[in-house]
Amino acid sequence: MAIDGTKLDANASKIRSVRYDRAKQLREKLAAAAEVRALPVVSEQASSDGTVKWLFDVGDGNAIESVFIPEDDRGTLCISSQAGCALACRFCATGHQGFARNLSTGEIVAQLWFAEFALRRRLGVAERVVSNVVMMGMGEPLANFDNVVSALQIMLDDHGYGLSRRRVTVSTSGMVPQMDRLKEACPVALAVSLHASNDRIRDEIVPLNKKYPLKELMAACQRYLVKAPRDFITFEYVMLDGVNDRPEHARELIALVRDVPCKFNLIPFNPFPNSGYDRSSNNAIRAFREILQEAGFVVTVRKTRGDDIDAACGQLAGQVQDKTRRQEKWIRIAEEKG
Ligand code: SF4
Repeated sequence: MAIDGTKLDANASKIRSVRYDRAKQLREKLAAAAEVRALPVVSEQASSDGTVKWLFDVGDGNAIESVFIPEDDRGTLCISSQAGCALACRFCATGHQGFARNLSTGEIVAQLWFAEFALRRRLGVAERVVSNVVMMGMGEPLANFDNVVSALQIMLDDHGYGLSRRRVTVSTSGMVPQMDRLKEACPVALAVSLHASNDRIRDEIVPLNKKYPLKELMAACQRYLVKAPRDFITFEYVMLDGVNDRPEHARELIALVRDVPCKFNLIPFNPFPNSGYDRSSNNAIRAFREILQEAGFVVTVRKTRGDDIDAACGQLAGQVQDKTRRQEKWIRIAEEKG
């Protein structure tokens, strides 16, 4: 059979033209419906231990933080879900700032997109750098439920970032109804900011406890585990000198969590101005850990990372500052950038 090359060329050209028109239409449609831009970076600081912190401008004088923490077997990115936080946990610098607004789905995902891009460029590698995401930065993720769940779905989607549910952790201070909703909508790994072994102490340092006391919180953790990608909850416990760090508190904690498979992450408190709290002594932290370990629990003590860059990860890591100092610092950095 003879093949007419002229006709083939003409057909190929027609197909290219149709494809171009469709791509153009799609681009126009996207431009009308979506905004594709990176968050403005106020600063990027790298610690000698490999920790990198970004401060992003989210408008109206608000800034949010993301922190990358490299470890031997993973690279964890801690991202923010809100500018500020309304829950006012007493030991938390973000809580002292008050609440500005929820981040959009785009602003949440943009932290991951930017960090991955910047880290590959910084390290000169082509392969993936961020292997785990924890929502432990500024804000209470479950108070921004819809936007956070949409962002999680993009992180998990094979056409998005393609993370497994085990590698994405949401940290909540205990919003019980939203924990139940997350279990159904997008059951990723769960960390709970526990910080106290009884309601009296937790009412004082995590005011949300007055609404959802420990009994309800423990029941919600049990329900969550039915669908969780890991068979345990991680309980975060900030160690506050003389407040929640005594051996009797450790023993009370063991009784509290007896029906919830869990691990503990003890966090030495990093004092900030006017917090009213001090960090527990190393001896107190060691004794507390040993009591939990002797009862059979897996316990980690969070290492302070990125000390030289104030690598705060919301309330939970690094150096934190009160609103005034944070704001002053942010303005100074912005001015230096011109
Ligand atoms: S600990 Fe979390 S929930 Fe509590 S005030 Fe800080 S950011 Fe908000």
